[in-house]
Amino acid sequence: MLLAVEELWPESLAEDWDRVGLVTGRPDAHVDRIMFAVDPTLEVIDEALEWGATLLITHHPLLLKGVNSVAATSGKGRAVHRLIEGGCALLSVHTNGDSAVGGVSDVLADALELTDAVPLTSAAHGLVEEGIGRVGMLPGVEKLGDLAARIFLKLPAVAGGVRVAGDREALVRKVAVCGGAGDGLFDAVRASDADVYVTADLRHHPASEAREASSDGRPYLIDLSHFASEWLWLPVAARALGNVLMDQGFAAEVLVSQTNTDPWDFILTPGN
Ligand SMILES: [Zn+2]
Repeated sequence: MLLAVEELWPESLAEDWDRVGLVTGRPDAHVDRIMFAVDPTLEVIDEALEWGATLLITHHPLLLKGVNSVAATSGKGRAVHRLIEGGCALLSVHTNGDSAVGGVSDVLADALELTDAVPLTSAAHGLVEEGIGRVGMLPGVEKLGDLAARIFLKLPAVAGGVRVAGDREALVRKVAVCGGAGDGLFDAVRASDADVYVTADLRHHPASEAREASSDGRPYLIDLSHFASEWLWLPVAARALGNVLMDQGFAAEVLVSQTNTDPWDFILTPGN
């Protein structure tokens, strides 16, 4: 099982600050039901245990920062307890899953039908086709508003919807994407000469400064829900792992979590 994960999403592709791989569980434990989710929240863990999962693979790490205790007095401690008591291992595939071919940004690029997509930044220890973010071309020019609507329809429904900076009618062709929080990649996006940047979790200052720095409004910005932008990867990842395991002669069921772990529940807008 761990070999199959390593084949698809090598740990060497993870960023230095990241913590990926097995979080709880015995490396030699028998795994027959694997659930994929974005976040290892308690609700997701309960869903995994109810289904009888013996492994939960999440995009986000449960324990990214150092901890001194996993007592069941904190949310993370309760998560560790529920997993171990429920006989379910936890493994995270984070920036190694972003960077890999078929990773989070590749899936986002495919969802937008981008062609000739290449990484926005190359992986430190990877192939040329590996790295964070992707930039590629739409099949033809498209209005910014239409592109945003197309993405909106592909994503799971979340309260925050999709936010756009730019003229609805503006025509775009070259698209940069980065699933998850992508406001650290603005230099690479500008260098790529993309017409529009599709990412998530854009904060006020990086977004505002990028708009101010532009002479023609480009790159326009399409800001998705962090959860939704990464959720798209789950069915693809689950299928890929199922196939590799089958090739290796292991029979394991894979399933994508149905829990929406976007933290927001409703939004107020002036309407438009
Ligand atoms: Zn993320």
